Amino acid sequence: MTTNVPVPSPALRALECVQCAARYPVADHPRGCPACDADGRNANLFCVYEEDAALDDRLPYRDLPGFGHGPTPLLPWEDGTYVKNEAAQHTGSHKDRFAAVVTAHARAAGYRGVAVGSSGNAGLAMAAYAAAAGLECTVATFSWLPEQTRRQLTGFGTDLRLFDDDADRMRCIRDLANDPKTLTVSSITDPVVGSHPFGIEGYKRIAWELVEQVPGDIEHVVVPSSRGDLAWGIYLGFRDLHELDGRAVPRLHLVEPFRRLSAVLDGAPLTGRFPGDHGRLVSIAGDSTTVQAHRAVTLSGGTATVVPDAVAEAHFTRLCRRGHVWERSSTTVFAAHESLRGSGAIPAGATTVLVATSHLFKGL
Ligand SMILES: [Zn+2]
Repeated sequence: MTTNVPVPSPALRALECVQCAARYPVADHPRGCPACDADGRNANLFCVYEEDAALDDRLPYRDLPGFGHGPTPLLPWEDGTYVKNEAAQHTGSHKDRFAAVVTAHARAAGYRGVAVGSSGNAGLAMAAYAAAAGLECTVATFSWLPEQTRRQLTGFGTDLRLFDDDADRMRCIRDLANDPKTLTVSSITDPVVGSHPFGIEGYKRIAWELVEQVPGDIEHVVVPSSRGDLAWGIYLGFRDLHELDGRAVPRLHLVEPFRRLSAVLDGAPLTGRFPGDHGRLVSIAGDSTTVQAHRAVTLSGGTATVVPDAVAEAHFTRLCRRGHVWERSSTTVFAAHESLRGSGAIPAGATTVLVATSHLFKGL
């Protein structure tokens, strides 16, 4: 893994709000768009590049750190459907893509350490990439975190903070965000905005890899979703491709364990709280949605699809019996695909990608 100081993309021009479209100079805004923050309608920012920038310059940094991995595998599934296996990443989830970009930024910007609120996968990815970059790493997570994941985090040298209560955990992350030497990469606002926009840019490569791997035009992508970081990043990646060569952006289907984004699409306020039982689907838990999640669905013409824990469990068991090793939250995409095919939202034979985000062995 490189120890050089990362070089910023020469094509990165500004940050733009996903909600009000205000533009800002490139800087860290832990509360998202300052104008929307002042209105109490917090929303994330995203990166704006020069219009004619090549694909490789449409990431915040060049030569991102990594552990020698190329594109993640694409598994042919059935009848025009493919599975993008993000479990093959170094720490076993798509969060590696996020961690690579934000740790590059932390090094380039001279931070001493990084901090993240996580239910598992993001913490592991941040801890590994921070360790490799020589950065301190604080992970604020829950006491219920499986023992093997806790052991791995402390093995990376992480400052692990465990909480029973989400409000206490959030207070810890907010305190860390006040330290000018620490880059906090997860949301600290209420309403939540999503994670650091530079990290979300890392997910664009999923779209870029998919157009190289999937034969024909991709029509639908099904993604597990909590605050919509992954879905929004994949959307931005397809939007880059659309700007460069006119390729159509696929419909993005965001899978949630109970009605949050679905309720917002039916008219509930985006800033609302949506209590519900996520069961064992810990990676897509949470009682709120975000503007960026809403934008990913509405701009791509997709859907929000509910897969309750019990339905996910049936698919999890079925997939395990076929030898697959994805965590429960990841297997929701298979259940969602079945229901979207049943409703006709995804027609039979439509070229579709299911994003399997994480493997099973962390006990999540
Ligand atoms: Zn705004």
